[in-house]
Amino acid sequence: MLDIKLKLKVGHASERAWMEPSLLKTVFWNITYACNYHCGICFTDSGESMPDELTTREALETVDKIHHAGIRDLILSGGEPFLRKDVLDVLEHMAKFGISVRIASNGSLLDPTTLQRLRDETLTKSFQISLDTVDADFYAQFHGTSVANFKSVLENLSNIQKLGFHTTISVRLTPQTLAGIPRLLDFASQEGIATVTIHCPVHTRRIAETFPQGEDVFTRLEPVFEHFCNLPQKWLVETYIPWAEYHPVIRRLQKQVQVINRGCRAGRDRLTINPTGLISPCVCMDIPEAYLGNVKNSDLEFVFQNSSLCKLFRNPQEYGICSDCGNLAKCGGGCRASAFALTGQIDGQDMSCPVWQCRNQKESDHP
Ligand code: SF4
Ligand code: SF4
Repeated sequence: MLDIKLKLKVGHASERAWMEPSLLKTVFWNITYACNYHCGICFTDSGESMPDELTTREALETVDKIHHAGIRDLILSGGEPFLRKDVLDVLEHMAKFGISVRIASNGSLLDPTTLQRLRDETLTKSFQISLDTVDADFYAQFHGTSVANFKSVLENLSNIQKLGFHTTISVRLTPQTLAGIPRLLDFASQEGIATVTIHCPVHTRRIAETFPQGEDVFTRLEPVFEHFCNLPQKWLVETYIPWAEYHPVIRRLQKQVQVINRGCRAGRDRLTINPTGLISPCVCMDIPEAYLGNVKNSDLEFVFQNSSLCKLFRNPQEYGICSDCGNLAKCGGGCRASAFALTGQIDGQDMSCPVWQCRNQKESDHP
């Protein structure tokens, strides 16, 4: 994802250069397309479950494969993962292997008993709850749900906090959510929440009423960064956007707070599995053009090492991507999901990159 993490609580921060060769370390697993919400923007286009989603037996076998591939870090999401009746069995199976799980959920289906069990049996260490806003009416409208659900999510968030899970709240960046992000930051600061994650739009799935792909959202986010810098607990900004460090807004931000760019991890140290078992490099690329095989009959490590698409993500210079840019060795040629959304080609130009935009502008001014 094109994420920006505004971190309020001090914790671990790896400074490893993200372009360095790496083993397959992380799996992002969307375990169901079922969702009890109907958000206008959804990176997985969720709503109804699909008939060919992994069965419980296949899901448990998938955990075995993840373990055998040596993966110890997993993000479990959906749809809404707690709509799967077997989700606790799957989490238990992962815990047996010592796989560390982070859960991304809308938070509406949790209850104190489930949370206590997740804590007592160490079935997850952290939650990311997609709150998007602290305005109850807007929450209901944005998520296609009721104000009552907003209240129960806040209650669950408070219980998550009390039980000591590492807690993140997330917001999908749209023209409607942008103005409310400072209030979301204030809420996080008051409640002792560790991180506020901003998901920038990637136009590969359901993405109504948001900024056009390629829009300069960093400039629009500058007041949000200023607000963050004025909070008493600000610690660190992490960006997962390959060219982020070349954007003037990020350069200015670096003068006020530590900023680490973690770039793009897709195909470099992580893979994504969709609810039917299809593997792709990036969670935003649940699209036929990016499928690398199905976990039911493919070996994750083999796919990671040998698929031509993972090689393209890791070695953009061999595919002619951004061949005329001096930043390629540090940037990796931009976001492949954005390139696909903008050009229809996975190996196309990421035209949202400010370096490319600036050069392109100069060339059109002085042909
Ligand atoms: S291709 Fe990389 S940078 Fe782009 S959305 Fe996927 S993980 Fe993020
Ligand atoms: S032109 Fe390509 S390599 Fe250069 S900074 Fe932009 S995305 Fe990265």
